[in-house]
Amino acid sequence: MKTRGILIVVSGFAGSGKGTLMKQLMEQYDNYALSISATTRKPRGAEVDGKEYFFKTTEEFEKMIAQGELIEYANYVGNYYGTPKAYVEEQLASGKDVVLEIEIQGALKVKEQFPETLLLFVTPPNATILKERLVGRGTETMEVVEMRMRRAAEEAEGILSYDYILVNDDLQECVLQMHHIIQSEHYKTARNAAFIQQIGKELKGNVKGE
Ligand code: 5GP
Repeated sequence: MKTRGILIVVSGFAGSGKGTLMKQLMEQYDNYALSISATTRKPRGAEVDGKEYFFKTTEEFEKMIAQGELIEYANYVGNYYGTPKAYVEEQLASGKDVVLEIEIQGALKVKEQFPETLLLFVTPPNATILKERLVGRGTETMEVVEMRMRRAAEEAEGILSYDYILVNDDLQECVLQMHHIIQSEHYKTARNAAFIQQIGKELKGNVKGE
């Protein structure tokens, strides 16, 4: 019954720990492919081009937009971020469940284009922990931390557009919950229309042959 993979969008406030969550999900299970986004933001800490992101100049990024190479793109706190199309399509066709770790504007655009997309939102247990994580990371100025906190407050208004919310209190538990939600999604009747049609046909054939 294994067919095309599921497209999954994971969003969450900066500092929700969703990066670590994604890393664990990829390490612990085989059937996922994590899409690597393009961005005009500068590499942070030990980030490597082609691993965390494809780092682009604004000119390069705008060329990707013009050539229709992105499924979606958005501006987030002064930089472009976008999802390259080719990898996602390849992986879905090969049966992998593809995860896009993107912010809310992009998430809604993906859902509009592909209504069967599963939308997951990750949040820390409370706002204090969020700020502590952002400051503790030590890679951003206080000004950027404040901008990201403001953005989080705006994003909180959009959570109801998502299918599921995950509270990232205990990392391992959260990884497991995410995996279970995605696995259950495979058994939705709407995702198994071809199988349902086939078994219906077979049963009709049997009745006629009685
Ligand atoms: P960061 O700069 O912390 O790596 O990412 C900032 C925000 O951009 C995060 O919410 C992240 O999920 C989002 N983001 C990363 N890649 C993409 C993308 O391809 N498209 C969109 N719309 N958002 C993205």
